[in-house]
Formats: sequence, structure tokens, C-alpha cells
Amino acid sequence: MNGRGNTIKNARYSAIYGDRIAIGCSLCMSGDKSVVFVTGLCREKCYYCPVSSERIRNDVFFVNERKVSNIDEAISEIARSGSNSASITGGDPLERLERTISVIEALKSSFGSSFHVHLYTNGILSRKDVLKALEKVGLDEIRFHPTREQTLKKIEEAKKFTTIKVGAEVPAIPGKADELVRLAEFLDKIGADFLNINELEASESNFNSLMMRGFVISHNGKSIEVSASTAIAAMKLALKKGLKIPIHFCPASFKDSIQTKNRFLKTIYSDRKVYEKATREGTVLYGVLLEYNPEEAEKCIKDGLLYKCGNSLCFHPDDIKYLKRYNLGCKGEIVEAHPTKDRFVINREEVQL
Ligand code: SF4
Repeated sequence: MNGRGNTIKNARYSAIYGDRIAIGCSLCMSGDKSVVFVTGLCREKCYYCPVSSERIRNDVFFVNERKVSNIDEAISEIARSGSNSASITGGDPLERLERTISVIEALKSSFGSSFHVHLYTNGILSRKDVLKALEKVGLDEIRFHPTREQTLKKIEEAKKFTTIKVGAEVPAIPGKADELVRLAEFLDKIGADFLNINELEASESNFNSLMMRGFVISHNGKSIEVSASTAIAAMKLALKKGLKIPIHFCPASFKDSIQTKNRFLKTIYSDRKVYEKATREGTVLYGVLLEYNPEEAEKCIKDGLLYKCGNSLCFHPDDIKYLKRYNLGCKGEIVEAHPTKDRFVINREEVQL
């Protein structure tokens, strides 16, 4: 503990330096946050960028896993997910400022002013008037990824001229703890609100360029070795220097194991079909008839054991024992899927009925 009472706490899935973390981070951890990918356009070409090739540098619009074509679709996907907050990301959302502003406006008017919104940007297009426009529509938190020296001034400007919570979000590049500490010192000096350090992620899109630079993939296949220890080393240095800025370290595995799982559990709660069974892992199970006796199937529909879903007849997995009492004479399958709008299938198992 230093003179100001800061410590480095090792929570189960992340490390926290200081007495608090950004609200955007805590909402993300509990699965309350939807991810609004406003555009893949970006003026930078960071060698470590983990954004998929399907998205990066393409002007595409996604909410969570769903590609959307307009703001109404975006809002309906967020409503379906049961989120109470959103992160606006890209690419660089400021490349499509009008769309970004419309999204924030629509979020606030659909879900209320307390619906928390944070925005990620590399800051290249940040200006006083841009920041003011974002503040006006109610942006709660802005996270700069300073890829250029000039961005530091933009962070200062955001802190000075707006009431938005201002911080930075950067990856921990192995061996670059000193750079992280310099950034933390700068943020501390200007009275910024937080620093979020992400473990360097390994993805299909950055794999080659990370390997070319001699980085090693961790055993979990999701992150780069030494990135986590670099972040922790930076936190220890911040502690030694007595910095006040709260620092949060977010491990790459956290995204799947906690954030996405918690978000899926929330989605299931608000968008579970009557024939679906929720699992603790954030997936749904449902049955589908493959071949069947139509007359018997009609009886099952009437008795509330089969449901028409598109061209299929579906059933709740717990109702197999009741369906076996009919003369369906058919095979079915139990499907396990993510609760995405299109129910992304991850497993199928045949059952006899
Ligand atoms: S600034 Fe961000 S989105 Fe753009 S290339 Fe770098 S990491 Fe990717």
C-alpha cells in the first residue's frame, strides 16, 4: 500500500490498481454491456490490432455478434440482449461521427439517460467541437488509445472542456512497462479518470504480424505471453511512484470466459423461447424433430409439446419423456446454440423419440 492508500488487487479475473475501476469496465465485467461496433474504418494500422479482417477498414455496423444495417436494428438487438449499457467501438467511431452521435442519441432516448455509454477512439479525429457534440448527446465515458504523441493533447482537451469521464485504453506490449507508466503519469498529471490496460490479444488477423515480431502465444491461445506480466509490472511501478490514477488490467481470456458468458446469460433471460432450456454456460438447448408422423405431431402441437419455429417443429429438451408417449416414430436432435438472434449452433446430438 502506498501513502495514498492504493494497492494492486488481484481479483479473480483481473487486476486493479487504485480504489475503483471505470464504470464502463465494471458494467462490462457483469455482462451488462452490449458492444456497438459503429464502423471498421480507422486511420491507423496497428500491427497488434485484434479486430477481424471481416470488420477492420470496412464500413460495417455490428451490435454484439449481429450485423445491422440501421439504428433501429441496433436498438432492437440491444433491447433483446437485456443490456443496461453499451460500448461504442470500431475501428474508430469518430470516422463516422454522425452515425456515432445518432447511436448515442437513440440509446439514451430508448433506454433512458442512465443507460451508460462509453466510447473507444484512437483520438486522431478528436477536436473540441467533436467532444462537445458527444457530451451534448450524453456520452458518459471516453477511452483514448493514444497511437500518436498528439493524442495526449486531445485527452487533456477532453478532460478540460467536457464533463465526460476521460481515460485511456491500451494493450500491454511485452517489455514496454515503462511506456505504460509514462502514460499513467501523464493521465495522473492531468487528473484523468482511469487507465485500462488490455492483455495483448492473439487473433486470426494479428497472428502473422505478432509472430514476425517474435511474440509467443500463451497456452490458452488467446493472448501473448509476457503481456500480463508487463501490465502488472507497470502497476507495481505506478504504486512505487504513488500515482493516483486508477488502473485496471483486463486479461484476454476474460472476454470469453466472463464478459461474453455473462452477456449471453442476460440475453437468455430476456430472449428465451418457450422451447429453450438455458445452460449455466450461457447457451440454450432445444429440440428439433427430424422426421415425424404429421398426425401425431399435430396432437403434440395441440398438447403444447411441439412449437412451430420457421419450417421446423421444436420441443423443450425436458419434454422428451412426454413426447415418447406419442406415436411420432421419429428422430430428433438436441441443438446447443449461442443466444444470438440467429441462434448460432455449436453442437447437435441425435435423440430417438
Ligand atoms: S487504432 Fe485501434 S482499431 Fe485502429 S488499427 Fe489500432 S488497434 Fe485497431
